Amino acid sequence: MKVAFFSAKSYDKAYFNQFNNDNRHDLTFFEVPLNEQTASLTAGFEAVCVFVNDVINQKTIEEISANGIKVIALRCAGFNNVDLKAAKSRNIKVVRVPAYSPESVAEHAVALILTLNRKTHKAYNRVREGNYSIENLTGFNLFGKTVGVIGTGLIGVSFCKIMLGFGCKVLAYDIRESEELVAMGVQYKALDEVFTNSDIISLHCPLNPQTAYMINQISIAKMKDGVMLINTSRGALMNTRDAIDGLKTGKIGFLGIDVYEQEADLFFQDLSEIVIQDDVIARLISFPNVLITGHLGFFTKEALEEIATITLGNLSDFESGKGLVNEVKG
Ligand code: NAD
Repeated sequence: MKVAFFSAKSYDKAYFNQFNNDNRHDLTFFEVPLNEQTASLTAGFEAVCVFVNDVINQKTIEEISANGIKVIALRCAGFNNVDLKAAKSRNIKVVRVPAYSPESVAEHAVALILTLNRKTHKAYNRVREGNYSIENLTGFNLFGKTVGVIGTGLIGVSFCKIMLGFGCKVLAYDIRESEELVAMGVQYKALDEVFTNSDIISLHCPLNPQTAYMINQISIAKMKDGVMLINTSRGALMNTRDAIDGLKTGKIGFLGIDVYEQEADLFFQDLSEIVIQDDVIARLISFPNVLITGHLGFFTKEALEEIATITLGNLSDFESGKGLVNEVKG
């Protein structure tokens, strides 16, 4: 198929070219994201391949539909950036990569926890500057702590298993319980109980109208003083301004995020020579107990191989009229 590939980075090109066997698909890489302004680039293509910060709203869909696009292939798991209703009304199929390496994101969440807790980023810098003082680098043991996990799908399950391995007590909230986790000792609780009783809370549910801003002034008030919050899921699960208030009072003791509600204007770009206009992220960066990574939870070799293979497979299935196992229905 003729595929317009948006938000393309060097690693996308490398992995998709490597796994595009026999050059079955004709891939054209655009560095720009797909949105209302760039939708005109899709003229002459049959499919678009998009990522987390492409904006495939109604207007974008109307334009790509007029240009002949028949399928939107998300090279990610989340699909909150696609107007599914609009796609359906234009008879455009939406496919995604539901699972590519849940361990990649789960392990990144753990990396955020350990870095915030044991302050390895600060210790590294100190030693490089000849400063071997360990003053103010005190951490806490994970063993015996209570970890609250919101969303126990593929990534949440993997994360729970790691935290059980540390000797943590794991509480979970999900609209569906995992029998496997219950058998391993994870205790499902009401959401408020997870908020109230956890030393560390990690978000692994999708962003949707039910979960948007689930971390807000009210839920933060219910949490333990000094709670550690980890978000590797989607930025808008957390009201960032409310989290800043929680950090200022000390209610939130540590915040680790791989996602940010306004990340589309920032992430995946080198802005090191640019004056950032986003005062919210600037304030977040100023806290000594906040760790931000730029949406790289998924970014392992194993995950990139899976993403390329499954996305290209989804396009091949569409082209050959096979059932779409990874279709997202509106
Ligand atoms: P999944 O579909 O396997 O699991 C999601 C879980 O959330 C399910 O068990 C579901 O029942 C639960 N859920 C749905 N609505 C809920 C609600 N209202 N409250 C509580 N739980 C609810 O998805 P996954 O593969 O585990 O991925 C989870 C999320 O991680 C994705 O939606 C995506 O936003 C995010 N993600 C981030 C990265 C990254 O690089 N940082 C990469 C992949 C995925």
